[in-house]
Amino acid sequence: MSIRPTIPERNITEMSLDAIQTLMEELGQPRYRAGQIYRWVFQRGARSLDEMTDLPKTLRGQLAEQGYTVGRVNLGKVAESVDGTRKLAVHLDDGAAVETVLIPMGENQFTQCLSSQVGCALDCQFCFTGTMGLSRHLTSGEIVDQVILGRQVLPEGARISHLVYMGMGEPLHNFDAVVSSLTPICHKDGLGYSHRRVTISTSGLVPQIERLGQTVPVNLAISLNAPNDEIRNEIMPINKRYNLKKLMEALREYPLPPRRKMTMEYVLLGGVNDSAEHAHELARLLKGLSVRINLIPWNPFSGPGYDRPAEENVRAFQDILLRKRYTVTVRVTKGLDIDAACGQLGERPDPLVQVTEGDI
Ligand code: SF4
Repeated sequence: MSIRPTIPERNITEMSLDAIQTLMEELGQPRYRAGQIYRWVFQRGARSLDEMTDLPKTLRGQLAEQGYTVGRVNLGKVAESVDGTRKLAVHLDDGAAVETVLIPMGENQFTQCLSSQVGCALDCQFCFTGTMGLSRHLTSGEIVDQVILGRQVLPEGARISHLVYMGMGEPLHNFDAVVSSLTPICHKDGLGYSHRRVTISTSGLVPQIERLGQTVPVNLAISLNAPNDEIRNEIMPINKRYNLKKLMEALREYPLPPRRKMTMEYVLLGGVNDSAEHAHELARLLKGLSVRINLIPWNPFSGPGYDRPAEENVRAFQDILLRKRYTVTVRVTKGLDIDAACGQLGERPDPLVQVTEGDI
């Protein structure tokens, strides 16, 4: 099995607005029909051609006859945490599954955490998804469909205000599909999100960070997790390829829009990277960068053993960085009771394929 999925030509969720316009022209329809279809799929969440009731019946018939379909994924189990977090199982049409999580962020607002791959090749030692290996990339449509499904399970009156690509997978390993998914997500006739409300997180794929900076003005988050190469090599194998010097150089060059900050995600592992000395080292490493630091006390999962950091260590770590004038938050753990917290996503798919270095 290849990690590159086959992209169906006749699934409208995978098509660009331009491609739908060309199709309408071929079918002798006015161009505005393409906008109608696009809005049905991405704004109104239609899952079939039949739902598009303001399209002429003959057009719907023609599209169905030619094999056009809508939507690629099906909603599986929805688990709800006592804190309001909702984890959705998303079934893909080849039998694989991913998860996406809706995290409550104040009254009637949720942030949705999106998956970009089935599993992940990067093998970060503190992450459950990393223990799964990589089965395959998601297509652009499979990524966008997670938001459409997310909207369907929101409580009455609530909305998804922010999207973060921080679920299963390394988004920049699946660069093209992730960037393609941003078009319907940010298009006014699509889901209509401003780029400011979308964040892509990466473990530090340096060439792709450079490419992203030249492509779309979304927010960038770095899964950093260590103040030096020695610790980072141990917990994030990708660091052996792109060490902190290379990563910091790429971040200094990143074309950050004015007044925006990058987010540095730092999972605190008890006894590994959570000492006062590590906090000082981190402050030195990030000097001169426009960043906000998000500390994430490690979440237990049924994988290799780390300890959750002591609360006083988390506070001391935060205080040191605050005194150095960084913006520092400690992520409140949500969804722990349903395994939806950071680093806990994933079921074990099979079979896994071996990913060679050249694939990344
Ligand atoms: S932390 Fe992210 S990049 Fe690392 S293994 Fe987990 S999903 Fe992959």
